[in-house]
Amino acid sequence: MPELPEVETVRRGLQPAMEGAVIANAAVNRPDLRWPFPERMSERLTGAKVLRLRRRSKYILADLDTDESLLIHLGMSGRMTVSGDPLGQFAHDHPQAEKHDHVVFDMDNGARVTFNDPRRFGAMDLLPLETAETHPLLAKLGPEPLGNDFHESYLVEQLSGRNTPIKSALLDQRIVAGLGNIYVCEALYRAGIAPKRKAGAISKERTQSLVPIIRQVLAEAIEAGGSSLRDFRQADGELGYFQHSFDVYGREGEPCKTPACTSKISRITQSGRSSFYCAQCQR
Ligand SMILES: [Zn+2]
Repeated sequence: MPELPEVETVRRGLQPAMEGAVIANAAVNRPDLRWPFPERMSERLTGAKVLRLRRRSKYILADLDTDESLLIHLGMSGRMTVSGDPLGQFAHDHPQAEKHDHVVFDMDNGARVTFNDPRRFGAMDLLPLETAETHPLLAKLGPEPLGNDFHESYLVEQLSGRNTPIKSALLDQRIVAGLGNIYVCEALYRAGIAPKRKAGAISKERTQSLVPIIRQVLAEAIEAGGSSLRDFRQADGELGYFQHSFDVYGREGEPCKTPACTSKISRITQSGRSSFYCAQCQR
């Protein structure tokens, strides 16, 4: 499941192909993904110019000059591929059409953007540009973790009095948008906070420390994603999945990376999801 850094990497990879370009043809090859596509989606997109590509949480929004915004969600298995040669950025020939190529945009700059999703948990919708933020998927989202509205006093206020484990609180999209299991595990490890600790029982100083740590963990992952975009081995033009090493995530039973710590990484299940942590370093 792509997390925020993967989605941001997809957005950055799509930018040279889509931003400022006109969708010369939008091929919509089935009626739905997770939900039905909006009515006349192909007609509404064909001829539209993409003014900008932005991201909100794990959603990509392509703001169009038709006063609509195309919302894209990759779901569990969605992949975006860019082929053609816009601005000399991608040297990939258009691939053979594949079975699960559900939506294909041919841009007027020669780029082709393909959305492939075998499991169809992804989504696309068209929303009025003016009121995009009130879309049901976006309306209740908390602040962006990399934005100015996510800051120390905000987090302290949000977590105060909460009896839920800190892990669940940070996964709550109403508190902070776009944080997923992997990067919450990594942030809690760096902050030295045990995932089961009650959110409201953590000292103010430690709660505050989470803000720069969360930003740093995400920024490092986005940087790794950026490297993957520049990497010529990304030879198939597929965006968003990159190699990134984690300190705790997926490392159950392996030695803790903190110098002088002799403990091994543990795994517990919280709300149906795995939490990886060091019982020695995280209290
Ligand atoms: Zn440790």
